[in-house]
Amino acid sequence: MPLKVRIKIIAIVLFSALGLFVILNFSPWLALAAALIGIFYLEMIYPKLNFFSPAILNVKDQGERAVAITFDDGPSEWTLKILDHLRDQNVKSTFFFLGKNLERYPEIAKRAHAEGHTIGIHGYSHTKFHFKGADFIHEDLDRCFKSFQSLGIKPAALIRFPHGFKNFFAVRDARRRGLTICSWGKGVWDSKRPGVQTIVDRSLKLKAGEILLLHDGDGAKENPDRSQTVEALPEIIRGLKAKGFEFVTLDERHSRWKKAVKAVGVSSKEILEECKPFNPIKK
Ligand SMILES: [Zn+2]
Repeated sequence: MPLKVRIKIIAIVLFSALGLFVILNFSPWLALAAALIGIFYLEMIYPKLNFFSPAILNVKDQGERAVAITFDDGPSEWTLKILDHLRDQNVKSTFFFLGKNLERYPEIAKRAHAEGHTIGIHGYSHTKFHFKGADFIHEDLDRCFKSFQSLGIKPAALIRFPHGFKNFFAVRDARRRGLTICSWGKGVWDSKRPGVQTIVDRSLKLKAGEILLLHDGDGAKENPDRSQTVEALPEIIRGLKAKGFEFVTLDERHSRWKKAVKAVGVSSKEILEECKPFNPIKK
C-alpha cells in the first residue's frame, strides 16, 4: 500500500478517534482504541485495504494499458466454456481455484494450467477466514496445496482469500508459505447473476491497471450456475480490446518464493522446493 494511502488512513483513525472523543465523551485513549479496532475490522473484510500486508491491488506495473481478468471459485464445468472463449480471443487470465473443486474437476484444472493461464490458490473449503484461528486456516491451506499436489499442478505463489476476508493468522500463514495476497479493483457481482448485459456493462467500466473479478464457480457449491458469466465473457473481452487494453495475468514475481523456505506446511514445502527462486519485485 502506498505511503500516501497509509498516511490517509492514519489521519482517518485520528479524526474518528477525535470524533468519538467529542461526540461520546470517551477518554482519548479509549476513543483511539475504538477507532483502531474499526480500522482492523475494515482491513479484515475489505480486500482493497491491505494496511498490514503487501498485496497485489492492480497490474499498473505491467504496462500503461494493462488489465487483468481473474476468476474465483473454479474449476467447474463452466470453466471449460470460459477456457474456450479465452483461447478463441487469445487472452490469458488468472484462476484462483478452490481445493474442493479441484478434486471434483481435476481434468478441467489441468487444461487451464496446460493452456498457460496463471493458477492461484483460493483455499480448500471456501470458509471465510476472518474469524478463524491459525490452526483452521493452516489446515485449510494445506488441504488446498494437497489437492494441487495430487494433480501434479504447481500453482503460482498467489492467494486470494475466500471473499477477500482475512485476519492476522491468514496473512501470516500466507506469508510463511511465500504467497502474495491478491486483491481486485473491480467486482461486478456476476456471482449474484444480475443479467448478462449488466455484467458486461459493469465490466466495461474497468480502468487501465485494474483487476476484474469474475467467477467460474460458486464457492464450494456443487453445480453452480455461471451461464451469465460465460455468456458475458466474449462481449467483455471484445469491449476491453476495443478500448485498447492489453490482458495480463497476475504476476507471481511479486511473491517471495525465496522466503518460502520458512514454509510451515509440509505439503506446500514440497511444492515450494521445486520452484526456482527469483528476485522479488520491491513494492
Ligand atoms: Zn470465492
